[in-house]
This record gives sequence, structure tokens and C-alpha cells, in this order.
Amino acid sequence: MTEPSTSPSNAPSQTADLPDRLCTWCKVAMTKRLVAGGQFIHYTCPKCVFQHTTKRAPK
Ligand SMILES: [Zn+2]
Repeated sequence: MTEPSTSPSNAPSQTADLPDRLCTWCKVAMTKRLVAGGQFIHYTCPKCVFQHTTKRAPK
């Protein structure tokens, strides 16, 4: 198995497919999480805890 050790145990497996987003302030990769049944992506910065939510682009 090649699961990343930092993956939250309660996160859906699709998070690897989600686009990365950099924190507006820290310029670091934000933590991704699917919300609203997978319709939205919730990003959280691990450094400053800035949060951002964006709608998933339809395939
Ligand atoms: Zn930040």
C-alpha cells in the first residue's frame, strides 16, 4: 500500500484527486477535505488555520 501517513482517517479516498491550493498568506499547501457530500472542497492551512471552501469543478 502507498497511503500517505498524513491522510486523515475520516477523509474520503478521493482527496488525492483534488487540486492543491496554496494558503493566501503562508504559500504552503493547504489540507483538503470534501464536504457537503463531495460537492465542495474545504481547505485548511496547517500553519495559520486560514480556511477556504470552493465548489468542485464538474467532470
Ligand atoms: Zn496559512
